[in-house]
Amino acid sequence: MSKVYMQDGKLVVPDRVTVPFIEGDGVGAEITPVCQKIVNAAVELAYLGKRSIEWMEVLAGGKAFERTGEWLPQATLDAFNEYLVGIKGPLTTPVGGGIRSLNVALRQTLDLYVCLRPVRWFKGVVSPVKEPHKVNMHIFRENTEDIYAGIEWEQGTPEAKKFYAFLRDEMGVTKVRFPETSSFGVKPVSKEGTQRLVRAAIRYAVRHHLPSVTLVHKGNIMKFTEGGFKRWGYEVAETEFSGQTFTMNRYDVLKKELGEESARAAMADAVNNGKIIIKDCIADAFLQNTLLMPEDYSVIATLNLNGDYVSDQLAAMVGGIGIAPGANINYQTGHAIFEATHGTAPNIAGKNVVNPCSLLLSSVMMLEHLGWNEAASLITAALEKAFSQGEATPDLARFMPGGKSLPTDLFGERIVELL
Ligand code: NAD
Repeated sequence: MSKVYMQDGKLVVPDRVTVPFIEGDGVGAEITPVCQKIVNAAVELAYLGKRSIEWMEVLAGGKAFERTGEWLPQATLDAFNEYLVGIKGPLTTPVGGGIRSLNVALRQTLDLYVCLRPVRWFKGVVSPVKEPHKVNMHIFRENTEDIYAGIEWEQGTPEAKKFYAFLRDEMGVTKVRFPETSSFGVKPVSKEGTQRLVRAAIRYAVRHHLPSVTLVHKGNIMKFTEGGFKRWGYEVAETEFSGQTFTMNRYDVLKKELGEESARAAMADAVNNGKIIIKDCIADAFLQNTLLMPEDYSVIATLNLNGDYVSDQLAAMVGGIGIAPGANINYQTGHAIFEATHGTAPNIAGKNVVNPCSLLLSSVMMLEHLGWNEAASLITAALEKAFSQGEATPDLARFMPGGKSLPTDLFGERIVELL
């Protein structure tokens, strides 16, 4: 078995690579084998036997619970830890039992601080917006901090009372409107956490020749947490990427010192020289702007909760969660788990109608991450062909004029034919 490893900060990928995978609950049993068949066929076609993937199943979710009595066995965490790059289907969130979410547990254990969600439109896919071809964004959602860190206490518990007493007596907080019936949550946002996320977003923009990185935040209201995210984000751009970026922070300084015309000229000069524009946008305005002028945005860096809303809105603009891929990555250690972004879809499980494209496009991201771009491009091109001919699973085909609905397994076979 061949392992991916890190050397001098770079991923080293053997030609025969072992990839741990979680099949996933519900529709996972349908989408995972379909995606593996397509990936195997694309790798074979691209490298004619020189490269291949050996899929290694690891357990999590309902299947793990049935077989081992645990939702997330240590052996699974160990496999992702050891093999660095893996992929997973959707997992049922256990009710009770100590684990809030298996996905969050995986992300936190491996410190997968970037949730990367590329959002693009495929010709033929019906969208609720008029010009979906203008949507081409890459969301870097912070995965380990913010309100999602899970630091909260429920109303009425001794902990909530103790926390409130601390706020009142030691921090002089008098602004809690209904202290007796409040639950409390803590929102940690750090300079390190922000800067490693923004650094990853800028590096990605540099590598993919993308025009801008937008820091999306609510710093107007939450000045130290979301406001810190904006300040620290600009700081990392200016201190570490000064040769490759031009920040709106710099623009404002120039405008103040030399006037608006000079600031504009400096920015135009930066754009002409291929520099990446680093800007920021308040989250609510951002959601509106992405509908009105999506072409203004490329790479997005944002905190966890904003990223949650932003990801779903942008996914809806290009066809919904059935085709939105994602990955959770730690760029320092090389750990990465690619995943279907939708849930287990129990209402359609076992009916052979689920759309495998979220997991398939996540597999494409995985191939790109491994540097196997030729195989990745073959799959993307096959999907482009299928969608432009109106061939899709029922969730998409029913909206396509003259659309041809294919069951999940036949859609998979069609994609293999089109490679
Ligand atoms: P869901 O994403 O499973 O389903 C929402 C709706 O979208 C359903 O109508 C479903 O049929 C449809 N849908 C989802 N994926 C589809 C696909 N690929 N093709 C066609 N239609 C699709 O969300 P839910 O019903 O709220 O959650 C079900 C379970 O999944 C819960 O246990 C939840 O906690 C879990 N969940 C897991 C993940 C994950 O593992 N990443 C994400 C979200 C929810």
